[in-house]
Amino acid sequence: MQTTEFIWFDGKLVPWNEAQVHVLTHALHYGSAVFEGIRAYARTGGGSAVFRLKDHVQRLLNSAKIIGITIPYTLDVLSEAILQTLKANKMPDAYIRPLSFVGYGEMGVYPGANPVQTIIAAWPWGAYLGPEALERGIRVKTSSFARSHVNTSMSKAKAAGNYINSILAKIEARDDGYDEAVMLDTNGFVSEATGENIFIVRDGILKTTPWTSILGGITRDSVLKLACDLGYTVLEQQFTRDEFYIADEAFFTGTAAEITPIRELDHRQIGAGQAGPITKHLQKEFFKIVQGENSHYADWLTPYTL
Ligand SMILES: *Cc1c(COP(=O)(O)O)cnc(C)c1O
Repeated sequence: MQTTEFIWFDGKLVPWNEAQVHVLTHALHYGSAVFEGIRAYARTGGGSAVFRLKDHVQRLLNSAKIIGITIPYTLDVLSEAILQTLKANKMPDAYIRPLSFVGYGEMGVYPGANPVQTIIAAWPWGAYLGPEALERGIRVKTSSFARSHVNTSMSKAKAAGNYINSILAKIEARDDGYDEAVMLDTNGFVSEATGENIFIVRDGILKTTPWTSILGGITRDSVLKLACDLGYTVLEQQFTRDEFYIADEAFFTGTAAEITPIRELDHRQIGAGQAGPITKHLQKEFFKIVQGENSHYADWLTPYTL
């Protein structure tokens, strides 16, 4: 991966190679960590902006609350630290990764008095599913691994431990020659992908999984609002795998994946087997927003200059 100069580590900017922890760090053994994925984009006409910064930081705090750990920083301190990290690394655009984890101390499962530590790293990250994915769309398969039951792992927490489920599905999908996995919930309904939410389009109407077994994506939320503003009907409604097969269009949303079209599921071509017109429309408007070309959504951008 491409490294940068500094990582924010509990209030200090430390050189990339020196941002280290002990091998007996609690989170390394038990997954007791929460994280965020945030993007900053260069603005058309100069400067840069972080997309939905406060919403991401609030979700980090919420994730910690859900898994029962306390991050000793406020929303404002963490937001400022993110901007500081971008400026220190002179990054006009970036993928930003805040992570709060239970640190070194007692080795039992009970996190007890172990410190909760926080880092913020940033690095350049292009299209998550490959440079062609945003244009051509990707091939996906239904995973043999179900998304965890809503009372097994807390899906609304972006928690490290939850990611074993995603890793299992991702490895299976990649080993079988697909780009990504579609995961069903324990009732058999389409849930989400390994790190992306799912939308399908049929007869001009968009449908996305309700906020039950999924991580409430900020990109999902942005697309819901954008699609409504553009006059589309969007339903937050459960749907099945076979409804997905006969969709006219489908796409993933996520900070890393942005809006990635899906051209095939389980060897069934979706629609015309390429990015559909509504997907492309939303993609185009989404990129305008993040690059500061649509003042209607100025609230979603936290500007900064280097
Ligand atoms: C992060 C994540 C998403 C996408 O959320 P965004 O806020 O849009 O980045 C979707 N599903 C899972 C499991 C995730 O961890």
